[in-house]
Amino acid sequence: MAKRDYYEILGLNRNASEDEIKKAYRKHALKYHPDRNKDNPAAEERFKEGAEAYEVLMDAQKRQAYDRFGHEGVSSTFRGGGFQWSDFSHAGDFQDIFSNLDEIFGGGIFGDLLGRRRPRRSNRGEDLKVSVSLTLEEIAEGAQKTIRLSRLVACDTCGGGGAKPGSAPVPCDMCGGVGQIRQATRSLFGQFVNVATCPQCNGKGRMVREHCSSCHGQGRVKKQETLSVNIPAGVSEGNYIPLRGQGNAGPNGGPAGDCMVFIEETEHDHFERHGNDIVYDLPISFSQAALGADIEVPTLTGRVSMKIPQGTQSGRIFRLRGKGFPELDGYGTGDQLVRVAVWTPTKLSREEEALFRHLEKLKNAQPPEGGKGFFERVREALGG
Ligand SMILES: [Zn+2]
Ligand SMILES: [Zn+2]
Repeated sequence: MAKRDYYEILGLNRNASEDEIKKAYRKHALKYHPDRNKDNPAAEERFKEGAEAYEVLMDAQKRQAYDRFGHEGVSSTFRGGGFQWSDFSHAGDFQDIFSNLDEIFGGGIFGDLLGRRRPRRSNRGEDLKVSVSLTLEEIAEGAQKTIRLSRLVACDTCGGGGAKPGSAPVPCDMCGGVGQIRQATRSLFGQFVNVATCPQCNGKGRMVREHCSSCHGQGRVKKQETLSVNIPAGVSEGNYIPLRGQGNAGPNGGPAGDCMVFIEETEHDHFERHGNDIVYDLPISFSQAALGADIEVPTLTGRVSMKIPQGTQSGRIFRLRGKGFPELDGYGTGDQLVRVAVWTPTKLSREEEALFRHLEKLKNAQPPEGGKGFFERVREALGG
């Protein structure tokens, strides 16, 4: 499916201002919001389309790239950085966009639609990074993995507030519960009033007098936990999947950070990955190369039979269509490339030696003379 023009999606003209983009996007998102379009995949598509358009047009750099080079400009300039839609929705994280919409509609935190970090609140928990190793077979099919991690969770004893059970937080005595401190300074030009966040309560206005003994007033404690994460097929080393709210709990009952799951590829004994293609080296005998053969080869998803035609040269590459990795965005699949090498026997019995001596005398067993024509024929035979 061809990608639609971002301006067209949001009904904007090309010199639309930021405000116009925001307005148009709100309208678009409200109309196609999945909560209002239950079981309507077309609306969901439109909704995603709009979010993507919004994400690009609100980013000056991306918008410029898009204006100059179109979709290609955005994806080639920004692939690898940030997040692709496919990563995002596969991660089971789709829900998060909808909760973010409240923030957006609520008044202006135009933060993370497509996986960028939300504006940090001072008491938000830290993000965590974990990595998960996948075999190429797992990457080809997608996998569900269990991750063990040690993270800070809200303290059970005090419910995350940090106060000793039975004692409630009291108004901060430094700021009188306001959370801010005003300081008047005199200068030549008159009196200035400087408003600063209260350093004692960090602007919360309340403080804990008697600390919870389980968490020493931190409101959170370390815990070993396991998470389950769905890895979409086709990921690569260095891709990551954000699990929203699965990082450390925030101090004093603050919201949790995210857990970023980074993908690591384990090396394979037989396969080599090249983008979405997979390369497999297949040794064949002289006779198989000369006579042709049906040979079973392994693929990432099981063994398949392939035909080696008569007169196959060493080094020739055969393509098994669709036996590579699926594209993350769901459009298309890579191939398996089978690189044939004629295997030369290293030990010969008397009888075998005699046979090879015999072969050597045959006219068609001799490679052709060198020179331009020869190399052309070899290149042809190698399929290049
Ligand atoms: Zn506690
Ligand atoms: Zn205070």
